[in-house]
Amino acid sequence: MTDDSLPFWRRKALSEMTEEEWESLCDGCGRCCLVKLEEEAPEGEPEPENPRIFFTDVGCRLLDTHSCRCRDYANRDALVPDCVRLTARVVQEIGWLPPTCAYRRLAEGKDLAWWHPLVSGDPETVHWAGISVRGRVRASEDKVAEEALEDHIVGWPLRVPKRARKPPGEGGTAPPNDSLGARGRSRLPVADGRGVAGGPLAPPSAPGQKARPVPDKNRAQAMKLPGPDHPITIEPNPNHVRIIFNGRVVADTRRALTVKEASLAPVLYIPREDAETRYLERTSHTTHCPYKGDAAYYSLRVGDREAVNAVWSYEHPYPAMAALAGRLAFYPDRVEAIEQIPEETEGEAGAPGG
Ligand code: SF4
Ligand code: SF4
Repeated sequence: MTDDSLPFWRRKALSEMTEEEWESLCDGCGRCCLVKLEEEAPEGEPEPENPRIFFTDVGCRLLDTHSCRCRDYANRDALVPDCVRLTARVVQEIGWLPPTCAYRRLAEGKDLAWWHPLVSGDPETVHWAGISVRGRVRASEDKVAEEALEDHIVGWPLRVPKRARKPPGEGGTAPPNDSLGARGRSRLPVADGRGVAGGPLAPPSAPGQKARPVPDKNRAQAMKLPGPDHPITIEPNPNHVRIIFNGRVVADTRRALTVKEASLAPVLYIPREDAETRYLERTSHTTHCPYKGDAAYYSLRVGDREAVNAVWSYEHPYPAMAALAGRLAFYPDRVEAIEQIPEETEGEAGAPGG
């Protein structure tokens, strides 16, 4: 029996939604309309089973970088042939939808977040919460050469910004009046799929472009040394680091290393001894980094949940990266949390792990 008082996204499966309901689910963040790069195997080697996807801060040529919507949604198929048309099945198949994406959240059994226009009643909250790409797109794809796309790789489209984590009223900061308060925070009458007080939503940008192969396949084969054009630093992380998956602490260390590489998001490398290796299962997946060497992969399994190839390790890295040997790194979007607890806050009431 379904409860008709519930909003449609709570009582219907994605596959049961009307077209209007489906379209209204897009929060208009524009993250999926960033150009993405897909990892490829070096020439002559088999393609990776689960290739990594890298987001860039380069926007699709039709992306309006202020509204974060498609400038010609009706004709996008003709104008951008690799624009993906999302359906309930496609959402399950593609692995690159950002973790904040409404379709992905619902497919994973989560609710819409507080910043979603259907929840907040205001299309601006997706921008205020830092979920949208507004102000973060550095260029349009028309202005960036294929071979320069790698220099635009960024980590933020796969992260939830701090401001978005807690709803106002539950410890989060309240948006300014012109964003939320003026229209109130009541739930929307969503059955018509648009119902934001003050007018319909602009046309949505529900799909995103397919990921493209990383240009120049051969680039991955030769060893490269970090330098001014591709700096890599390795530093001890001063925090107590805990990694959580399916409610369990799968790694707990005060000896993590932080690796900062060019414009990529920093990555924490954990000593293997400080990880619960009984939850790891080695897979056949491997990748090659010209600066670090060959990476082996592990799936993480705790109880009934599995995160495929969620962990990697350079077991025999190139000499310049010897400090990483055997350490484990976890994909932030494939675990529940990577907590970094400053030593001075440990034990304080309310501090994570305290
Ligand atoms: S489909 Fe794209 S624009 Fe819409 S919510 Fe998902 S990531 Fe954001
Ligand atoms: S919906 Fe498709 S065509 Fe429109 S901006 Fe997004 S990726 Fe580009």
